[in-house]
Amino acid sequence: MPRIEVNAELCDECATCVEACPMDVLMVEENKAKPNHIDLCMTCRLCEVDCPNEAIKVYD
Ligand code: SF4
Ligand code: SF4
Repeated sequence: MPRIEVNAELCDECATCVEACPMDVLMVEENKAKPNHIDLCMTCRLCEVDCPNEAIKVYD
């Protein structure tokens, strides 16, 4: 199962990663992005690449 880590200090809730994800894995809640459906993540890393703050990391 993939793992997603979001650095809350770097995340500004812009939701760019939410919009970038083709699988609707992510949501913004409680001041940062977080995985909502991690089981759907295909580790494409579009969220990681598109984040303007380098706040989100994907591990497989
Ligand atoms: S793109 Fe980056 S800064 Fe924006 S909500 Fe996602 S993790 Fe946070
Ligand atoms: S790695 Fe791809 S599928 Fe997984 S959360 Fe990021 S954008 Fe979505």
